[in-house]
Amino acid sequence: MPEPGELTLEPARRGKPPRHLADLDVDGRRKAVAELGEKPFRADQLSRHYFTRYVRDPHEMTDLPAAVRESLAGSLLPTLVTPVRHVETDNGTTRKTLWRLYDGALVESVLMRYEGTRPRVTLCVSSQAGCGMNCPFCATGQQGLTRNMSAAEIVEQVVAAERMLDDGEVPGGPGRVSNVVFMGMGEPLANYRPVVEAVRRLTEAAPSGMGISRRGVTVSTVGLAPAIDKLAAADLGVTLALSLHAPDDELRDELVPVNTRWKVDEALDAARRYFDSTGRRVSIEYALIRDINDQAWRADRLGRMLDARGRGWVHVNPIPLNPTPGSKWTASRPEVEAEFVSTLQARGIPVTVRDTRGSDIDGACGQLATVTD
Ligand code: SAH
Repeated sequence: MPEPGELTLEPARRGKPPRHLADLDVDGRRKAVAELGEKPFRADQLSRHYFTRYVRDPHEMTDLPAAVRESLAGSLLPTLVTPVRHVETDNGTTRKTLWRLYDGALVESVLMRYEGTRPRVTLCVSSQAGCGMNCPFCATGQQGLTRNMSAAEIVEQVVAAERMLDDGEVPGGPGRVSNVVFMGMGEPLANYRPVVEAVRRLTEAAPSGMGISRRGVTVSTVGLAPAIDKLAAADLGVTLALSLHAPDDELRDELVPVNTRWKVDEALDAARRYFDSTGRRVSIEYALIRDINDQAWRADRLGRMLDARGRGWVHVNPIPLNPTPGSKWTASRPEVEAEFVSTLQARGIPVTVRDTRGSDIDGACGQLATVTD
């Protein structure tokens, strides 16, 4: 376990998961297939099976000659995530899965299906096993960083969710993953390249990738300012969420230890630049912690800081604190939460309080921790 405030930007363990086609772009896959002695176009066939039909069994790849199926699937489609267990709530429409990776590392993802006027399926994915950011109110942060995940390990969580939907394991009939949020375990921007590759696989059309709408993808970060600028330049069209949790450096140094490297102003400036170059409205995440960061004066200060950077570029997503083991903190009182929200709204800032879906199965924000008791 890390000491309070201790940051881990580089993992001690270097993962080298088996090679998978989702780690490679279209050209890389064609090359890999040619090296295996097959025609390069087989790479596209294989890709369609994986990214659009989520095929597991090579026998189903009937457009590939039988002998070729086994060898190509064997070398380019290894199984990278194996379910250890599923835990469900909301009549099965919220489903947390614990996955074992090739080296025994454990991660979790959470599927949330919403009905009603805006039906959607959101998958919350992990980008690292554990996390090195050490935010004291987050269960994953208390676990420390085990290792970075590969692009394919990230994508496999989404493909596995599509299979669950296809197999009727989630009530509500046939469906597809419409939203992917990098809000599971890990700090996505501390594992930059694989995360960007994974986003490409998720959002590019077949045979390159799965064809999920870019607008449906959100990358959430503690505020690694240089990496936010890099992400903007990568032009992926995804939404950025910034985990702020305090408008003042004094408190944020404690709640989000990476603030000792990139201060509130630097994180907010980077977020604003992200909006400027992508046109995507940024989301500010703010876990409301009773008597710690939930005072009206902090809401007002946050409002002023956002306003000072312009209008229409940002909205605030307060998250009632979800309980985590051993934490001394709890969620804000309802009337305090309401005042926090109205203080921001009075400044014309759009606010949406995040629901606490999955908190009863330790599947909500900040509750993912891979204890296998
Ligand atoms: N490392 C990234 C991705 C994690 S996203 C990030 O921090 O943005 C998960 C979101 O849930 C983050 O905004 C995180 O700060 C927040 N969170 C963590 N622990 C929480 C808790 N106990 N209750 C509510 N939100 C929490």
